[in-house]
Amino acid sequence: MSGQSRPRIGVLALQGDVREHVHALQACGAEPVPVRRRSELDEVEAIVIPGGESTTMSKLLGIFDLYDPLVARLRAGMPAYGSCAGMIMLASTILDTRPDARHLDALDITVRRNAFGRQVESFETDLEFAGVTDRPGAEPMRAVFIRAPWVESVSPDVEVLARVPEGPAEGRIVAVRQGKVLATSFHPEVTGDRRVHEYFVEMVRR
Ligand code: GLN
Repeated sequence: MSGQSRPRIGVLALQGDVREHVHALQACGAEPVPVRRRSELDEVEAIVIPGGESTTMSKLLGIFDLYDPLVARLRAGMPAYGSCAGMIMLASTILDTRPDARHLDALDITVRRNAFGRQVESFETDLEFAGVTDRPGAEPMRAVFIRAPWVESVSPDVEVLARVPEGPAEGRIVAVRQGKVLATSFHPEVTGDRRVHEYFVEMVRR
């Protein structure tokens, strides 16, 4: 399936900013498919996990019987992209979460939930994103953070793609990639800048 020009990419549609990801994927030439049930998951070749609320998403994954099938697909190498709550869901270790929250363990990182909250709930900044803003003539990327996590640490095979450029959280890791799994603390789906989604669609195509 991969390598086709219009990949079918699922958007986990239990909760969160599903529509925004669907629109962004469409704009990048992918075929987005909202995923609420197992049969829908079986038909996609990659998955986006949206922003929202990770502990709620965790509960709903159980209620909709999607947790085990999704973990199985991720273990088998399905490409995935998570923004904000989606990053939390993909991580292997989560700090400051509820003890009963489950996650997908597809990305070897430690994330801290609501990490910026101690300074400020929501903010925007321009940042550099490796492989995107370092292309000739490219503009920095506008990043919107809403009760966002940051990545507290990464394992050696995780590539750091972006950090907070300045301010109290300067240097904090906010975008990472490990093989076919991509995650951002921020929400490119809400800015109209499609470059993170383009980057992911390219990952899926390859
Ligand atoms: N704070 C949320 C959580 O813990 C994430 C916020 C978001 O996705 N905008 O899941």
